[in-house]
Amino acid sequence: MLDPIVGLHHVTAIASDPQRNLDFYTDLLGLRFVKRTVNFDDPGTYHLYFGDDSGTPGTILTFFPWPNATRGSMGVGETSATAFLVPKDSLLYWQQRLLQAGVPVEHGDLRFGDAVLRFSDPDGMRLELIGREMSAAERAPRTSNVPREHSIRGFSGVTLCEAGFEGTASVLTKMGFTQSAQEGNRYRFSAPGSALGSHVDILVQTQLMYGRMGAGSVHHIAFRAPDEESQLRWREEIKSLSLNVTPVLDRTYFHSIYFREPGGVLFEIATDPPGFTWDEPIESLGESLKLPAWYESKRNVIEGVLPAIALPHLREGRT
Ligand code: ZN
Repeated sequence: MLDPIVGLHHVTAIASDPQRNLDFYTDLLGLRFVKRTVNFDDPGTYHLYFGDDSGTPGTILTFFPWPNATRGSMGVGETSATAFLVPKDSLLYWQQRLLQAGVPVEHGDLRFGDAVLRFSDPDGMRLELIGREMSAAERAPRTSNVPREHSIRGFSGVTLCEAGFEGTASVLTKMGFTQSAQEGNRYRFSAPGSALGSHVDILVQTQLMYGRMGAGSVHHIAFRAPDEESQLRWREEIKSLSLNVTPVLDRTYFHSIYFREPGGVLFEIATDPPGFTWDEPIESLGESLKLPAWYESKRNVIEGVLPAIALPHLREGRT
């Protein structure tokens, strides 16, 4: 029996300047910097992780910042927007906060009854805040200067830009999602339950060309598996769909399998454990560079190559 997939685990995107990326997501959006590590396949590049106070699955946004990356171009076969949840009454606060920081915002049409505020990060990554009735944040980042009542709770979901939807829909359905709504060319698929990141929307845009990856592009989206046994069962299930799926890879903070869905978007299934407090205490998450054991002997070289970055709340003497 397969455990249901309850929603997104993380979203991983490409950035350019790491300090600008860090400042935007911590100082402006109020996420917590939960891990400072390197791209395990390219250890001269950072892998920066942001999330709620502890980096709970469903709140984690991660970046590979390549300082000289050129911007990607949007097209089909990729994730075209990443949406966070905020309380409905906080949208005005966020509009003012973003505008004061010089970030243009745009009000989208109501989407399945929810208000949508759209904006982009400094690399052009498309972000959305979805306003919904909700109670106070339980795990608001301790480092944030965003008032707790307005804090970003985690993901609402993602939008996949696709040339069609049947192939992608059949994979999502196998993964336990059901088509829950449709508005025009937007098809909503929802996981059972009410976990963060339980929506995947397919936006069918037949007129667009394939996108090109670069700064501002989402590299892949990851779904949650509760443990390694469940992940292995999902691996067999994905293989049975005649999709190529990687072996299980050790990402230190979770284990991962990857496969490309028929529309072209790279999917991952990642385990909830062990999480980000596995190798440092929750109080000081993100403050020092963490390397997997196999890179520790090269720490001096790696630290010499990586650009220096500083956490805004420490730089400014906040607690
Ligand atoms: Zn990933």
